[in-house]
Amino acid sequence: MSELIRKDASELSALLQAGDISSVELTQAHLDRIDAVDGKVHAFLHVDHQGAIASARAVDERRSNGDALGPLAGVPLALKDILATKGLPTTVGSRMLEGWIPPYDATVVTKLREAGIVILGKTNMDEFAMGSSTEHSAYGPTHNPWDLERIPGGSGGGSSASLAAFEAPLAIGTDTGGSIRQPAAVTGTVGVKPTYGGVSRYGVVALASSLDQVGPCGRTVLDTALLHSVIAGHDPMDQTSINSPVPAVVEAAKRGDIAGMRIGVVKELGGDGYQSGVRQRFDEAVVVLQSLGAQIVEVSCPSFDFALAAYYLILPSECSSNLAKFDGIRFGLRAGDDGTRSVEQVMSQTRAAGFGDEVIRRIILGTYALSAGYYDAYYGQAQKVRALIAQDFAKAFAQVDVLISPTAPTTAFKIGEKLDDPLAMYLNDIATIPVNLAGIPGMSLPIGLAPEDNLPVGIQIMAPAMADDRLYNVGAALERALLAQWGAPILSSMAGV
Ligand code: GLN
Repeated sequence: MSELIRKDASELSALLQAGDISSVELTQAHLDRIDAVDGKVHAFLHVDHQGAIASARAVDERRSNGDALGPLAGVPLALKDILATKGLPTTVGSRMLEGWIPPYDATVVTKLREAGIVILGKTNMDEFAMGSSTEHSAYGPTHNPWDLERIPGGSGGGSSASLAAFEAPLAIGTDTGGSIRQPAAVTGTVGVKPTYGGVSRYGVVALASSLDQVGPCGRTVLDTALLHSVIAGHDPMDQTSINSPVPAVVEAAKRGDIAGMRIGVVKELGGDGYQSGVRQRFDEAVVVLQSLGAQIVEVSCPSFDFALAAYYLILPSECSSNLAKFDGIRFGLRAGDDGTRSVEQVMSQTRAAGFGDEVIRRIILGTYALSAGYYDAYYGQAQKVRALIAQDFAKAFAQVDVLISPTAPTTAFKIGEKLDDPLAMYLNDIATIPVNLAGIPGMSLPIGLAPEDNLPVGIQIMAPAMADDRLYNVGAALERALLAQWGAPILSSMAGV
């Protein structure tokens, strides 16, 4: 096996720039790795062998011509199958879009291509990004490289598993309620949900438009920052895109200095219901932050207790509307169109055949919450809770620079364990959801293995809107201190696939 696949994106970037390796060689090493292990992991729904090699060759040519290239030019990446890719299948983990080949690229994909980043393929996900385990994919689950019988988190389990299995050094995810951060936590990788509006949503299949955000995933804080700076920035094609400079995330990731910083531990995120090993590693990380010169205070955000309930009204309401366009007429699947049925019957047969149980559950919940007579009682009430959560954050950030909590209440659970219990599944995002409701940025970073099961635990760092750089500054400081303590990155202790 090529040693190249073990290296971080920033190390690979240096080797490429020095001319020590070519992008074709690097890309081939990752494609070989995918061919060797993805039968077991199932991180990918589609691997683009030819396209990846062709883009790698193009970057190598540009480099030999002396063209100015960005730092990640020639580095391969795994892309969540929710972003539209011209000429490449985009299924969103659903039968509904099986066989659909988008005629255009999402803005993020355009930015990746312009930066010379090589797209290896499309990664597995819960159908329409609904879930915390990737078990709701219509194409079968992804397996966690730490233990193949366990979930890799969700909805972006394919992206996080591809990093942990060394199939890709970089990946892209989307996070509506935790789908970047929770998979990062349970696979021992790094994931960031940027400030809402920081990264374009154009060409991203919508789950809940007021919550969805594309973000970078990597194995180190610096790699994640490098990718963040490639994908972020204003896009006139997205009406919610923020038109101001991208926070200086790469500089922050290189700095990692938190002396004198005020860090708040959120009282409501971390008590009952959190696995003891998760709490233990989190408490130890707090001590490390303190030893680096940060001032730790406890902060209370009382409205967070209602975040999950509010989210599971707002999200289904928005997705019931967003998913109305999947009707068998415009894209993808069409069922029952044999000339004997009306348009309405074809639409209804298509939706019954194309959507899985979790998607149907949320559409029913959403249409109910939005229906006349219930709108104020459910959707309206949830929006009020959302405003209270944003106020709790605002009050907290008046006292502290960043907030922290465990990312997820438990380590990776067994495949099948929570599949028949939607509420148990929803609880995985109890700590990540407030961030989406308030539109602020959040990061998950590995902080060790839980003693009881030897599985990765993540810490969540949260910052005010457009202060994404603070996540990287704190993350880099903590990562450096933990690396010094452990002597090796967390993934080196994975038995592996
Ligand atoms: N697990 C959460 C849900 O099922 C979050 C999903 C996401 O962030 N896309 O809605």
